[in-house]
Amino acid sequence: MKNLQELFIDQLRDVHSAERQLVKALPRMAKAATKAALRKAFENHLAVTREQVERLEAVFDEVGARPSRKRCAAMEGLVQEGEELIEQSPPPEVLDAGLIAAAQRVEHYEIAAYGTLSSFAKTLGHRGAVKLLERTLKEEEATDKLLTELAEDGVNRGAVAPADEGKEEEGIVGKAIRAVAEATGLASEAPKTPKARKGTGRKKGG
Ligand code: FE
Ligand code: FE
Ligand code: FE
Repeated sequence: MKNLQELFIDQLRDVHSAERQLVKALPRMAKAATKAALRKAFENHLAVTREQVERLEAVFDEVGARPSRKRCAAMEGLVQEGEELIEQSPPPEVLDAGLIAAAQRVEHYEIAAYGTLSSFAKTLGHRGAVKLLERTLKEEEATDKLLTELAEDGVNRGAVAPADEGKEEEGIVGKAIRAVAEATGLASEAPKTPKARKGTGRKKGG
């Protein structure tokens, strides 16, 4: 890489790889999510992500470059962290809180990538590319905000004292938080027993 244009193309290829990895990972995250609103958010973002891949291909056209086989190592790691969480099969409420945490790491990576790309494109005079990149940047920011709202609107609270982990372990604080959550309608929609979920293989009392 000998100039900003080449760095720009290299980073475009990186985020193109990142988005394609997400097209594969998001269905798995949607399937793992227990709260309906969270599952829906992942499904919606999958559709948006597919459009973002196409939009990036339009950016390549705009700037006279082509995608490559470059693989985004950061997204590989972020996706792997999400998979590790799913494999641990925590109680549904904890899983949802962890999925949001994983997804927000992804969104922040994308926000950084598109913010930089847009700035590079401005400097390089790629006006058409700036418009496309800014559009995706706004989508990633909106997704990040939605995930924060889902976390703060019950998911995190529900994970303080998961419904299906022995009641005797819940403790006084957990009981109080649950009582408030139930009274205000913020209780998790998650299934009450781990058996309701398929193939989790969760260890009891480990
Ligand atoms: Fe994206
Ligand atoms: Fe990367
Ligand atoms: Fe995204």
